[in-house]
Amino acid sequence: MKPSKMSRKKTKEEYRMRTHLIHGNFESKKWEYSHHVNPPMSASAMYRLSSTHRGSQGFFEFASECMQDTRHIPIYVYDRLDEPSRGMLEENLAYAEGGEICVTFSTGMAAISAVVGVLGEAGDEIVAHQVTYGCTYSLFNNWLPRFGIKVVWTDINNEEALHKAIRDKTRVLYFETPINPTLTLVDIAAIRKIVDEINSCRPEEKHIKIVVDNTFATPYCQRPIELGADFSVQSLTKGISGFGTDMGGAVIGPHDYYGRLMLFRKDFGGSLNPKSAWTFLVYGLPSLATRFSNQIKTAHQVAKFLSEHPKIEKVVYPGLNDFPQFELAKRQMINSTGKFSPGNMIYFLPKDAEVDGKQSPKVENFIDYLADHAYSITLAVSLGAIKTLIENPYSMTHAALPEDEKRKAGMEPGGIRLSVGLEDWHDIKEDLRDALSHV
Ligand SMILES: *Cc1c(COP(=O)(O)O)cnc(C)c1O
Repeated sequence: MKPSKMSRKKTKEEYRMRTHLIHGNFESKKWEYSHHVNPPMSASAMYRLSSTHRGSQGFFEFASECMQDTRHIPIYVYDRLDEPSRGMLEENLAYAEGGEICVTFSTGMAAISAVVGVLGEAGDEIVAHQVTYGCTYSLFNNWLPRFGIKVVWTDINNEEALHKAIRDKTRVLYFETPINPTLTLVDIAAIRKIVDEINSCRPEEKHIKIVVDNTFATPYCQRPIELGADFSVQSLTKGISGFGTDMGGAVIGPHDYYGRLMLFRKDFGGSLNPKSAWTFLVYGLPSLATRFSNQIKTAHQVAKFLSEHPKIEKVVYPGLNDFPQFELAKRQMINSTGKFSPGNMIYFLPKDAEVDGKQSPKVENFIDYLADHAYSITLAVSLGAIKTLIENPYSMTHAALPEDEKRKAGMEPGGIRLSVGLEDWHDIKEDLRDALSHV
């Protein structure tokens, strides 16, 4: 019988991201799961080795910077080294971010420590945008200098300042986009061009690598590697988890760095717990597209409502027409099918939020009123969850940054960060309206 057109089996790669994230690699080389609808949750700190030879082969693989992720069925030895749930999650995350490889970690901070740990050594410099997640700021300021790595802070959106900050010793350019919490964007493709020019005059070993923290957007809304970044890092705790039940982090990047990242994880020990890997693999990634496409719609409704409210001074949301970098947002924050996907995060400032350079008690009253009365909005840190979360970055998540740095970067003491969840948007609006009428 001639094979008809109808009988050809579509390959996994021909399916769209949304479908792919749900089904993943059921034929994974990481484990035999072909008869499972879902992979079982694995829980084994150590693995049976059939021979001493196999054991020594396993150790040899993990002691090498040249380890390849393409090695066939990995030799599992000990959970800290490698483990199947994590391995399967890594395949799916690499796919989602459009990168070659992924190595997961116990938290987002462990992932950030690993990427700067493998890219820099004593004597090197990192150029970082002046506003980052508070703990990244603390890691770069309190710990990296102890290892002889200097961090130079700059405004990465100011080309002149950026050129001044980059020196012969610079090996890494590090930034978030959208930046937490102001939601300012960095044009990844434009940064790529600048770095390419600088790299073209340098030997390979002195090349600057671009690292983007993609936690705010998630790979649903933005894929930094496709836009020119060398590495994308994620706190899996946020949008990828989505349910706020587990912590994790990931580094996605080129093949060449797989061995070094795995070695770093083995020796520093920030391995992702397999039970958490399993929740990201079975619940987080498969629901990412559905959660975010709905959260974006709600965020748009809420941002519009806030921007029309007489007690609100300003609203920053990359999906609003008056967002200062709207054209860049439309180019950069798109999902895998090309649809504009400006994320679920909103930053806003109530009117008269400041008196004599200090936060007005109004702001705290407003947030506390919500904490007390609003069923649909929760006062809590973290973001990207199915529950709508509110916080005051200036005094909470970004407390580690010095006052003048926060000001310079456009953060206001009264600024409020809202992570929009999956609740009915009418309810979120009504809770906000009620709270605003009481301040
Ligand atoms: C939360 C967060 C991190 C750190 O992730 P953890 O999982 O909490 O360690 C890093 N970057 C950004 C932008 C974050 O929001």
